[in-house]
Amino acid sequence: MKKSKERRNRREKRSREEEGGSRRRRKRRIRLDHILIWLVVILLTAAAILFILNVMRRPVDDVDVDALLEDTADYHIETETETEEETNPVPMPDIDEQLLTVNEYSRPGTKTESIDYVVIHYLGNPKTTAQQNHDYFESLKDLQNEYMSANFIVGIEGEIIECVPPGEVAYASNSMNDYSISIENCHLDDTGRFTEETYNSLVHLTAYLVEEYGLDRENIIRHYDVTGKECPLYYVENEDKWEEFKDDVMNYIAECRG
Ligand SMILES: [Zn+2]
Repeated sequence: MKKSKERRNRREKRSREEEGGSRRRRKRRIRLDHILIWLVVILLTAAAILFILNVMRRPVDDVDVDALLEDTADYHIETETETEEETNPVPMPDIDEQLLTVNEYSRPGTKTESIDYVVIHYLGNPKTTAQQNHDYFESLKDLQNEYMSANFIVGIEGEIIECVPPGEVAYASNSMNDYSISIENCHLDDTGRFTEETYNSLVHLTAYLVEEYGLDRENIIRHYDVTGKECPLYYVENEDKWEEFKDDVMNYIAECRG
């Protein structure tokens, strides 16, 4: 009797222990399940966020990049076209750039208001060279006895010296200094007639400047047309030769255009 009671007690104890064990196992399993579910939820949420971000961003980027590429391409094409259209048909003549020192007497360093005219001059000092006249303009910063210069000087052998860059005031054409480019010309005698070399270089340089600054035949003038001074003498005394000179400039431009 006692034995059987003990056995029953043992069995009950065992079954209680088993019950407790399986409850603990169940609890542990539920905790694991929760963790797994949360992990899956977190992973899915992260994936969804990444996907949405990707979808939202990709088309915008593509459009922008494409638009930028197209814009850049268009810009280059336009620039090339414009450059081609604006290219001076007249080749740049051989110019010896010897810019004067900026000084009150020959190169004030001030900008012109505009470039509306090319003004032609003669030096009135026979047989002097372009270099000598350039050097005289340069010496005025020390001599300080007169205001005088020109943007360009064309020499007896056709050489061209640039003293003051176009777009900067030179002291040659009085009231036109602020609106023009001036070209001084050397000559051999008192008639003021230019040598063939001087003439050809002057035609070339004038044609180049006319095209470079969008000017025309009527924008080529003499110092005489500004102040009535007999400069350039030969082209004041020989009006037909002056007209011929302007024709030669325009014909040269037409030739260069082809
Ligand atoms: Zn003059």
